[in-house]
Amino acid sequence: RQNLSCLSLTPFVTVCLCANTNLTFIFFSCLCTDCPQVISRCQWGAQPFRGTPIPLSLPLPFLYIHHTENPSEPCLTFEKCASDMRAIQRYHQDERGWSDIGYSFVIGSEGHIFEGRGWEIQGRHTKGHNSIGYGVSVIGNYNSTLPSVEAMDLIRHRFYQCAVDGGGLMANFTLHGHRQVVATDCPGDAFFEEIKTWEHFRD
Ligand SMILES: [Zn+2]
Repeated sequence: RQNLSCLSLTPFVTVCLCANTNLTFIFFSCLCTDCPQVISRCQWGAQPFRGTPIPLSLPLPFLYIHHTENPSEPCLTFEKCASDMRAIQRYHQDERGWSDIGYSFVIGSEGHIFEGRGWEIQGRHTKGHNSIGYGVSVIGNYNSTLPSVEAMDLIRHRFYQCAVDGGGLMANFTLHGHRQVVATDCPGDAFFEEIKTWEHFRD
């Protein structure tokens, strides 16, 4: 299993945080030196997963883009984004009866990636496709406006690279909007038009 996140100590020394601790990785250059900071579940105050998680078989061939729709407003501070994460998880677990927040990762407009089910666990975001792709959602409703440039850059530059280098996504992965595979408006008209121009997008 490959390393999925790294910790840079100095410009020349990088310690890879590996799923199975393997000391031979330490002090060798990591494949994933450009991973953005991911706000862990404990940092946003997540409730535990309910039941037994299903592990993903990595690397995955698809990345599905979503908007949360509700909350409909982009979150602009860490505190608001963390509170939105707790509200989304509460809705998915208590109202919908799911094991956990459905998304693999969630993007705040303040520029952070929040851990949902994460790299290793199958999500519940794109019906019929959860075992073959990650679901990444941006907090807000993007039918008529776009997410912040910072939030979009985080996905199309840093998340892409991190996920491929870390062994989460195949190098030639396909990007789809939720609406391409399920009858839904998600990720919103404006945002969907935007991701059509992104690398890895396929009709
Ligand atoms: Zn969606």
